[in-house]
Amino acid sequence: MARRSNLRTYFSDYSNARFNIYHNNGNIYPAGVAAEAYDKAVESAVAKLNNQESDETPTSPQRPIALAIDFMLHDFEMAEVEPIPTYVDFGDSEFLVADKRGYEHLAYELAKSFLSTSDGQIIDTRLKLNNVIRTMEQSTTAVVVKTEDGNVYEAKYAILSVSIGGLQSNLISFSPPLPGWKTEAISNIDIMVYTKVFLKFPNRFWPSDADEEFLMYAHQTRGYYTFWQSMENAYPGSNILVVTLTNEESKRIEAQSDEETKSEAMGVLRAMFWPHVPEASDILVPRWWNNRFQRGSYSFYPVHVDHHLLHRVKAPVGRIFFSGEHTSEKFNGYVHGGYYSGMDTSKALVEEMKTEIARENETQSFLLQPFLDLTLPQPGPVFDIPPHLFHRLSQDFIINYY
Ligand SMILES: Cc1cc2nc3c(=O)[nH]c(=O)nc-3n(C[C@H](O)[C@H](O)[C@H](O)COP(=O)(O)OP(=O)(O)OC[C@H]3O[C@@H](n4cnc5c(N)ncnc54)[C@H](O)[C@@H]3O)c2cc1C
Repeated sequence: MARRSNLRTYFSDYSNARFNIYHNNGNIYPAGVAAEAYDKAVESAVAKLNNQESDETPTSPQRPIALAIDFMLHDFEMAEVEPIPTYVDFGDSEFLVADKRGYEHLAYELAKSFLSTSDGQIIDTRLKLNNVIRTMEQSTTAVVVKTEDGNVYEAKYAILSVSIGGLQSNLISFSPPLPGWKTEAISNIDIMVYTKVFLKFPNRFWPSDADEEFLMYAHQTRGYYTFWQSMENAYPGSNILVVTLTNEESKRIEAQSDEETKSEAMGVLRAMFWPHVPEASDILVPRWWNNRFQRGSYSFYPVHVDHHLLHRVKAPVGRIFFSGEHTSEKFNGYVHGGYYSGMDTSKALVEEMKTEIARENETQSFLLQPFLDLTLPQPGPVFDIPPHLFHRLSQDFIINYY
């Protein structure tokens, strides 16, 4: 799909990261030590998975190098049970989207295949962007959506694809309220906060070989500026480093100023590369946790997920259908989870619409039957009802019936 949409991507291989683990004295851990720590971490992860079923308490990593590897296995990568469906279906090569038009270019290219365009731009007035939905009211016949700036939209059905964090946050109020089984399922899904902090430098001071794109820092606090990526391969000459923080560390840095985050990151880089480290000239700190439209980065289901939970998260409530990565059984947490869930939800909605039409037709013929009976030859007096009235009469009945 990326190729078809002409999206620029860059092959990203972080399998070497474990051989680029920096001590806080600037030395790299010897390959043998790193390999041994990695094998132990994988063994411990497998034991943890088995222990989840046997209720034994697994031991947690203690040493900085073990903590760094544990972070890479569980937080940087997704903690998933092998075989990982994404790798099985799409191969295990990962590509970084390195396109100035952003990942959203793909969404616009897809949308152009069904919305009206002019000169390659979407001009379809049915697409309404930057409208914040605050209420969704449904009756037996329609859904009415009201936005923050006072717009009102009415449709027979709605598909709601805000993130699981958005659903948990009550940004949207539902009338009638969502039933207990739905709100309970929504509140039982965990949210991963995953933050990539970008730092721009006046010059590059870190190694730039292809096998040194990913660098790790071993600190006694798990996840403290652990996982670094150089943007040099994807954007040569950009002098940008990206560090990934997750969950509690993400929330911690979101609560402080960007200057404080920069100062902490600089402290780590100086420990890794002292003395050749210039001050970063710019920093970008996304705040996914505090973003009211996201309230986190993506859903995180327990490893041994209860399928009923997922089905309840996904199930429609009346005329409101739910979609998004958190409703994808196979690929939750991923972009392709969002993409496939959109298709699944649309198919389910089309089926429901067909069923509704069939129901309406049945109701119509049921209501028409008395009038039809009257037109049939009857013993006794005959009432002549002109055929063109049948349709109007039955429609009136359906409107009143609802
Ligand atoms: C830092 C980071 C790195 C990631 N890396 C990867 C990766 O490498 N590979 C991968 O596959 N996935 C990755 N993901 C996850 C991926 O981004 C998500 O799985 C994907 O975006 C989910 O798509 P979605 O359409 O389900 O939800 P979203 O992308 O969350 O879209 C929901 C939309 O609803 C809008 N919205 C919310 N509330 C309202 C409202 N009240 N009114 C109107 N609109 C509203 C939001 O603004 C948003 O545009 C990453 C996520 C983050 C944050």
